[in-house]
Amino acid sequence: MTRETTVKATEPSSGTGLGTEIRLAGVTKDYGLASPAVDDISLTIEPGEFMTLLGPSGSGKTTTLNLVAGFETLTAGTISLNGADVGNVPPHRRNLGMLFQNYALFPHMSVAQNVAYPLRERKAGKEEIARKVAAVLELVQLTGRDGDYPSQLSGGQQQRVALARAIVFEPKALLLDEPLGALDRNLRSALQVEIRRIHREVGSTFVFVTHDQEEAMNLSDRIALFNNGHIEQIGTPQQLYTEPETLFTARFLGDSNVFELGQAALDEKVAQDGESWIVEPGTVAAHPGVRASSAIVVRPEDVEVAGSRDAVPSGANAVRATVRDVEYMGSYRTLLLAMGASGLPGRARTSALRGEYAIGDTVVIWWWPRSQRIVAA
Ligand code: ADP
Ligand code: MG
Repeated sequence: MTRETTVKATEPSSGTGLGTEIRLAGVTKDYGLASPAVDDISLTIEPGEFMTLLGPSGSGKTTTLNLVAGFETLTAGTISLNGADVGNVPPHRRNLGMLFQNYALFPHMSVAQNVAYPLRERKAGKEEIARKVAAVLELVQLTGRDGDYPSQLSGGQQQRVALARAIVFEPKALLLDEPLGALDRNLRSALQVEIRRIHREVGSTFVFVTHDQEEAMNLSDRIALFNNGHIEQIGTPQQLYTEPETLFTARFLGDSNVFELGQAALDEKVAQDGESWIVEPGTVAAHPGVRASSAIVVRPEDVEVAGSRDAVPSGANAVRATVRDVEYMGSYRTLLLAMGASGLPGRARTSALRGEYAIGDTVVIWWWPRSQRIVAA
């Protein structure tokens, strides 16, 4: 597949300048189930920000988006757009663009007619429609396909048309609910690049829902991680990866080695599985749950592998492990491990240039205390 990599210097007419500020305060939606679908969420999305709502299936992402769109009514809390409470504003008057997984183009309309639809609904003039449709089709790189019908397009192209239709009327905020969920992996990552570029060019606020952590990391200025109706943690992709406050966050974003510590977590030295570990105060997360029940989290890339205990520098934390499998990844390899006396599952990333390790080998893995996090378990 070919893809244009140059970004046009002149903005298309869909350039809208700064986007809408979206503020949620105490937002709750209760369907009368065991627990509310959305439970007291507060979140401010900055004008022009690319915010991703990330989380497992059923965690409340779509419900939150539908509340912002006005398709659902609030049980409690307020939602405001640029400071104005929209609790009583119907969806079509919130002026938000929307894009969903099932792109739902009108099959009997051409590409141009599909894209023009929101403008015709808004009673735009003929000349304005032609100009804006041409500009937005160029933005999604479908110039020349104006007369085609949806059945003549691939899935990825259909989703581009749907995206064009969602932004053609220049909404200052765009809500996207798993828009790439139906596409295969390669197309998905190509369209991620496109969506990121389009976000930069139009300057609107984007609120993007996905359950795919890699997609969220690729796209977002910030991520709000959802867990069972509440927000577990909000931050940049980097913050969530390197400074998780809870075990849920650490596990949802990337691979982790996890040692649960129970109540006695924050003593200066922790004994577990016959090993003695050093816990440095700076590595303890600020999350209030940390002191109740905690865990040490270490990323596989922060772990070193040694043949024996003698090779571990003093001041490092270490644990014995058995190699269960080796994954070859080109420039590096990942050892899948059983760690400590209880055989906790673990991972260590090693350079492909280092010594060979084989299944069944006994090793010692070690890491500096500063590269571990103590999180709420
Ligand atoms: P996500 O988008 O993160 O997968 P949803 O927001 O769709 O999650 O759903 C959150 C929870 O609310 C789920 O338990 C789901 O079953 C429930 N839910 C969603 N919509 C409705 C509805 N219209 N009626 C009853 N329960 C619902
Ligand atoms: Mg959903």
